[in-house]
Amino acid sequence: MVSRHDTTAVDIIDGQTTADNTVARQADKWSRYGDDRLREECGVFGVFDHADASALTALGLHALQHRGQEAAGIATCDGTQFHLERRMGLVGDNFNKQTVIDRLKGRSAIGHNRYSTTGDTILRNVQPLFADLDTGGFAVAHNGNLTNALTLRRELVSSGAICQSTSDTEVILHLLSRSKKRRIVERFVDAIRQIEGAYALVGLTDDMLIGARDPVGIRPLVIGRLDNAYVLASETCALDIVGAEFIREVDNGEVVAITKDGIESHRPFPKRPAQPCIFEYIYFARPDSIINGRSVYDVRKQFGVQLAAESPADVDVVVPIPDSGVPAAIGYAQHSGIPFELGIIRNHYVGRTFIEPEQQIRALGVKLKHSANAGVIRGKRILLIDDSVVRGTTSKKIVQLMYEAGAKEVHMRIACPPITHSDYYGIDTPSKEDLLAANLDNEGMREFMGATSLAFLSINGVYRGVGETGRDSLRPQFTDHCFTGEYPTPLTDQNGTEAPRQLSLLAEVL
Ligand code: AMP
Repeated sequence: MVSRHDTTAVDIIDGQTTADNTVARQADKWSRYGDDRLREECGVFGVFDHADASALTALGLHALQHRGQEAAGIATCDGTQFHLERRMGLVGDNFNKQTVIDRLKGRSAIGHNRYSTTGDTILRNVQPLFADLDTGGFAVAHNGNLTNALTLRRELVSSGAICQSTSDTEVILHLLSRSKKRRIVERFVDAIRQIEGAYALVGLTDDMLIGARDPVGIRPLVIGRLDNAYVLASETCALDIVGAEFIREVDNGEVVAITKDGIESHRPFPKRPAQPCIFEYIYFARPDSIINGRSVYDVRKQFGVQLAAESPADVDVVVPIPDSGVPAAIGYAQHSGIPFELGIIRNHYVGRTFIEPEQQIRALGVKLKHSANAGVIRGKRILLIDDSVVRGTTSKKIVQLMYEAGAKEVHMRIACPPITHSDYYGIDTPSKEDLLAANLDNEGMREFMGATSLAFLSINGVYRGVGETGRDSLRPQFTDHCFTGEYPTPLTDQNGTEAPRQLSLLAEVL
């Protein structure tokens, strides 16, 4: 429990206090900030004014588990005091007991799922983060990644700030605390005007739930209604699980302040078109979510249709790499008329491939995760479909698996373009040297995988898949830097290391 005005209070995380953990990590170097920063990709959830706020938040986080499996946390406020539980591991393993839910008192709550690719997780980075401000307590949870957090952090620390975590999100709390504005919403706006990059934020005070999206709207955030309560969630699938009705998305560059009086909308940034991240459709979001009015499942199927039109193959059977390749494989099979078969069975009790840090463990993870359904593979010309290739580990393993199961030919089709550039906005893609497509051409990648043929969906195919006629090169409708190297925000912390091409429209006020 964290008192609103008790600045010495620490919350208990997995039996270890944040203070203990801070001491244990004192040897951390500056570089660790940047290191850790790049691994945050998450799901957020919030409820305002519901008797079951903490239980609903646990459910919402459960539906958003695919966005982060490393750690989860919930903060509630009972009007006077804040309560905080932050745990390592899955929501279902940590927020499944009535005693835990009961400890999280109050009618308002926020929650967070954290995703990381490393075992070297720092407990104090688990969100929501909490601070006692002179306006009262404030808890915050963040999906995305700030691209100037390191720069801001250096300035803050050199002017006396004491940081408790290595998370970019903590910078927001410091900026809030330093704002001279009177109202918390104004302070919040003050703070987010100084940050750059991707953020879908939920914040909680003793009488308000705040939601915000960065000026481009890179990461998703939706508003729902449940009885008389309001809900904020990264994806609509989290509204569905709690039975909330979808109201609308938080717009790009919008801050919503939800109180007993309803929703107050603030638009503190110059108006510009939204550029949500295309990778939500490709991989990250759950297929039953609706993003920007489009069903993620339908879009993924369309990627498969486009892929079949662009890159046909003379094969006997279309086989998805489960689960992420399934919708595109259905689309490919329907368009091409080639039979669809579940030639690979996935073990669902193994985490996502990227959850383990080392390449060797990761490779083993893929093997643990997938097995061949030899009966539909043996003697056949197989067309494998996956949503994306990052390091190439999955594709290489599975091509081998198909041959071991007796495939005659193994053709690879990927339902997005080659990923040639790193992400700085909260989706874990490694640095360029580890990205297969940044280092090899199509033939090199085919050879690396051992496939008979290899083709990727074109960038225009992706845009057609989401219902556009193609990519508007002057003003792209989505953030697609992984494929194009065009980043929609400054990458201040990168300091030109990646020499990103920024779109000229960035500075443009529309
Ligand atoms: P890789 O094995 O390194 O080529 O990664 C590709 C596989 O990982 C595909 O099966 C994708 O479904 C999945 N994937 C793609 N992007 C991500 C990500 N950001 N985090 C975790 N898994 C991913």
